[in-house]
Amino acid sequence: MNIKENISSIKNNLPGHVKLVAISKTKSPEIIMQAYQAGHKILGENKVQELVEKYAKLPKDIEWHMVGHLQTNKVKYIASFIHLIHSVESLKLLLTINKEAIKHNRTIDCLLQVHIAQEETKFGLSNEELKELLNSDEFKNMTNIRVVGLMGMATFTDDMDQVRAEFRSLVNTFKEIKDIYFGGNEYFKEISMGMSDDYRIAIEEGSTIVRIGSSIFGARYCNVK
Ligand SMILES: *Cc1c(COP(=O)(O)O)cnc(C)c1O
Repeated sequence: MNIKENISSIKNNLPGHVKLVAISKTKSPEIIMQAYQAGHKILGENKVQELVEKYAKLPKDIEWHMVGHLQTNKVKYIASFIHLIHSVESLKLLLTINKEAIKHNRTIDCLLQVHIAQEETKFGLSNEELKELLNSDEFKNMTNIRVVGLMGMATFTDDMDQVRAEFRSLVNTFKEIKDIYFGGNEYFKEISMGMSDDYRIAIEEGSTIVRIGSSIFGARYCNVK
């Protein structure tokens, strides 16, 4: 595995407006340092404990993204430093993030995760739940969070037509809510979709952030997704 080469070959093929988040879950700080030394400082993790440990050990100019399911009682551990939370899927979680952001006197950027896969196992808000959240007074009154876009995960399948259709549905939802709920807000512009096996399709469909793990760091040998 040549991490440096993997990163540059991916980056060379990304359009300029697409951001690469290197997903380093299960990989050691020593391995992650290879990405850092290659000049890549945007990293993502899916578990709070791992994220906090790596934040402590690694250089402080790394931009950390949280991409996995987040429990409300764990927000406090990442609130001081997290750059973007991709996986917000309830009003309750958003309220907690807002509260912790206030304590740290900062604004935390978030994406709302939408359920686009046909699989039932994936997390995310339904379109109805999304609109309910956006319509709530609590949402409108939060001062220290900024919803900068949406995130979605496609079904784990070889059927790339299905994957494409699921990504397209996320983009349609994004367009539909942008004017109604975020009209005039320049910051609502991100669509986080696409992983190692499907990021090219995601970009064709309009992704602005891709989250790539195994194509950079190699396969993960434990049973984690
Ligand atoms: C693990 C993970 C990724 C990266 O997956 P790869 O297939 O290794 O690229 C992206 N997004 C989330 C939410 C993940 O948990």
